[in-house]
Amino acid sequence: MADEKKNAAKELKEKLFMQRKNGYHRISDEDAAATDKFAEDYKDFMNKAKIEREAVIYSKELLEKNGFVEYKTGMKLKAGDKIYRNNRDKAIIMAVIGSAPIEEGVRLCAAHIDSPRLDMKQNPIYEDTEMALFKTHYYGGIKKYQWTTIPLSLHGVIIKADGTKITVNIGEDENDPVFCVSDLLPHLANAQMSKPMSKGILGEQLNIIIGSRPFKDDEESGSVKLNIMNILYEKYGITESDFISSELEAVPAFKAKDIGFDRSMIGAYGHDDKVCAYTALRATVDCVAPTHTVVTVLTDKEETGSDGNTGLCSAYLKYFIADIAEALGSNERAVLSASECLSADVNAAYDPTFPEVNEKNNCAYINKGVCITKYTGARGKSGTSDASAEFTGRIRRLMDSKEVIWQTGELGKVDEGGGGTVAAYIANLDVDTIDMGVPVLSMHAPYEIVSKLDTYMAYKAFRVFIED
Ligand code: MN
Ligand code: MN
Repeated sequence: MADEKKNAAKELKEKLFMQRKNGYHRISDEDAAATDKFAEDYKDFMNKAKIEREAVIYSKELLEKNGFVEYKTGMKLKAGDKIYRNNRDKAIIMAVIGSAPIEEGVRLCAAHIDSPRLDMKQNPIYEDTEMALFKTHYYGGIKKYQWTTIPLSLHGVIIKADGTKITVNIGEDENDPVFCVSDLLPHLANAQMSKPMSKGILGEQLNIIIGSRPFKDDEESGSVKLNIMNILYEKYGITESDFISSELEAVPAFKAKDIGFDRSMIGAYGHDDKVCAYTALRATVDCVAPTHTVVTVLTDKEETGSDGNTGLCSAYLKYFIADIAEALGSNERAVLSASECLSADVNAAYDPTFPEVNEKNNCAYINKGVCITKYTGARGKSGTSDASAEFTGRIRRLMDSKEVIWQTGELGKVDEGGGGTVAAYIANLDVDTIDMGVPVLSMHAPYEIVSKLDTYMAYKAFRVFIED
């Protein structure tokens, strides 16, 4: 009798309570195998695409290999066509034309390919006490102390006085040198260690060590800098003033690696938001004969507020959709108003070491699947688009119908802090938009952690959405 009652309660619980089981208790054997395979592809991408420019090159190559062609305004379009547009080598937008009339709207996925880092200033190189260093200006929200005493690689471009473009990538190859920001030894850090963490390392202390050997036959001051400039001149043909027209970014030189004895997670630089960029890119490349036109944008500048002509506050997304709409005999306004968007960005994963910042019932967990976030923002939902209950309901139904393992969560406790995504900018175009992405541990740190299961479920979710 007691057992019967227990079973009835268990059944009722299953019926009435929300299921929040670990994804590994729910995943099919087929999806579990696909999860591990997908993780290998993702790590390869992470090692090749550390900055936005490299992510664009990687994406462009993958797209072309899969039949996508560069789209020029005015080109004719029909169902099945696959196109892309490269926005200044820093953002890329792609489409697969669907069979349904374009007035029925597009299925839009938007992720970002820029990540927090140290940018070189425009006059970066200097010598102090016979050491050569670069001055940096950090990009995005970082905890500055985390960027000291780790190996850094240098990526980007330099435009020389004659207009020639030099591509830089030093520190990723096993045989390359790396660079480093120093920190004080604990023995002499009494004053530093008594400061609040936000003041322990200041922006102007994020100076990157780049050399110490003086130029031979020159005992004048400045000969270490001279030696470095000479190396750079011999390698790239650049002089000091060429830095003015450069974009050089220092990022962690670490490789993407499995984390844990069970290899269930991946550690890498820049999961935010390349984990959603790669999954959205792959979902777009792999999608088969979509009904609605698929548009996927991998954007730049999200970490600094989405401004600028490669950020999503610019009109480049609108223009691309307008071009498609016109080519198919419609107009931008009609298409946008009927469109739906997944703002594909990461969320914070619950960290057992720092439980105090999250509200346990409304946060994302490692291995519980891709996270649907109805609203982001700060304080009283400031700066969020807040997806409607109707659209949230539609996405939830869709995910359940295709066995996508998903969870829901918001970014931390109310009034603990906050943050935003590109969702608001796309929703402002009259598009139904909701955030969906992978939970990340140590977000914005030089080495971030995601779960393989959550990553694969993001891929599956994006694919299910664009093929619906
Ligand atoms: Mn992000
Ligand atoms: Mn971010």
